[in-house]
Amino acid sequence: MSQTHRPVKGTRDLFGTEATGFLRIVNSASKMASSFGFQYLETPILESAAVFLRSLGDTSDIVSKEMYRFTDTGGDDLVLRPEGTAPIARAFVSLGLTHSTPLKVFYSGPMFRRERPQKGRYRQFYQFGVEVMGTDSPNADVEIIDLGLRILRELGLANKIQVRINTLGDQASRAVYRETLRSYFEARKSELSSDSVLRLEKNPLRILDSKAPEDQKPISEAPKLAQSLTEPATEFFGKVTKGLSALNIPFIIDDRLVRGLDYYNHTVFEFTTDHLGSQNAVLAGGRYDGLVEEMGGPKTPSVGWAFGIDRVHLLCEDSALKLTRVALIPASEQCYWPLYQLGREISDTELSVESTYSGALGKRLSKAAKTGADFALIMGEQEMNQGKVIAKNLKSGEQTELSSTDTSGLKAYFKK
Ligand code: AMP
Repeated sequence: MSQTHRPVKGTRDLFGTEATGFLRIVNSASKMASSFGFQYLETPILESAAVFLRSLGDTSDIVSKEMYRFTDTGGDDLVLRPEGTAPIARAFVSLGLTHSTPLKVFYSGPMFRRERPQKGRYRQFYQFGVEVMGTDSPNADVEIIDLGLRILRELGLANKIQVRINTLGDQASRAVYRETLRSYFEARKSELSSDSVLRLEKNPLRILDSKAPEDQKPISEAPKLAQSLTEPATEFFGKVTKGLSALNIPFIIDDRLVRGLDYYNHTVFEFTTDHLGSQNAVLAGGRYDGLVEEMGGPKTPSVGWAFGIDRVHLLCEDSALKLTRVALIPASEQCYWPLYQLGREISDTELSVESTYSGALGKRLSKAAKTGADFALIMGEQEMNQGKVIAKNLKSGEQTELSSTDTSGLKAYFKK
């Protein structure tokens, strides 16, 4: 008996508009990142568990409860990567790139976290990310925030996004703050969730990240990191905010933004939206000056971010991602290849030009309309001899004769 298999909970097959949308988002983001001088780096989906354990922090949600970790038949302790930055730092050292700094890379692909699935939250989800490795300049922090915004703007999301930033300070600031927080939460221990009582021992900063309802009041009244910042840390953050202002990037300083992973220091940021319910984080990142050392490399101050492709796709209007589809309809056999050549000349990543293979003209037209094509490009012998072609809008029925030699004019007609 055959059995129908479903995808594993929290995973899904990508097909149709979602799959097309994903490709468009990744293409558009890759183009923008390349235009900023970033190079593509692809790391394996499987990594040694050690890559994530200490770097993300034992008390992080990811390490403590969400990793897909298993021992393979050879006895290796492996993980399906839950995020992209630690593997990139690992690759940076493995590939011997530590002398090629500053190195700018981008990546995209699936990540795995065993979270409770809901709209915009999956167990296999997809990220696009960038990292600038080997510079302690706050200008790099500003530049990648600008890059992130430009990518989202290109996808039509400018009005749906707020930029929130904060600083975690340097190590000295954090050491002071950790103790301030420890004594503050110690005094209110009875109000805290059991998870947060554990965090109090190991890493009181993490309590600020808690979503537990009972933690919210003590969190809202907790002392702020700003009071513990050292002078260099204050200066660094000042340069970041000045840079953002110089680029006219609106931002909110959110002193509750701490980010869930241990490797961050100085700048942390999130792009949030009001359009996705509780899954409001679209893009998140920050500076991680100690992570490469953790992977066995030299001191390599770095900064990066990742956005969730799934969430960006949910935010995009169909119109921003939709391909314009044109069906090629030759009126006779002689026109087939000339029309085909013309089709190949005008097609690109936003204009999909498809052959039709059989049937009389009327049949081909109705079939093209039925399968969702937006236009038909029709050529008969008369048009072919006169350097003309007919474009028919399959939605409105409107028909126009255009020059077949002016390919940019044709392209513009379909894209308008
Ligand atoms: P993080 O690595 O947790 O900072 O996440 C970066 C971005 O990835 C978030 O802002 C989301 O857009 C996306 N993301 C994180 N976890 C998930 C998930 N389980 N499902 C879908 N998207 C996610």
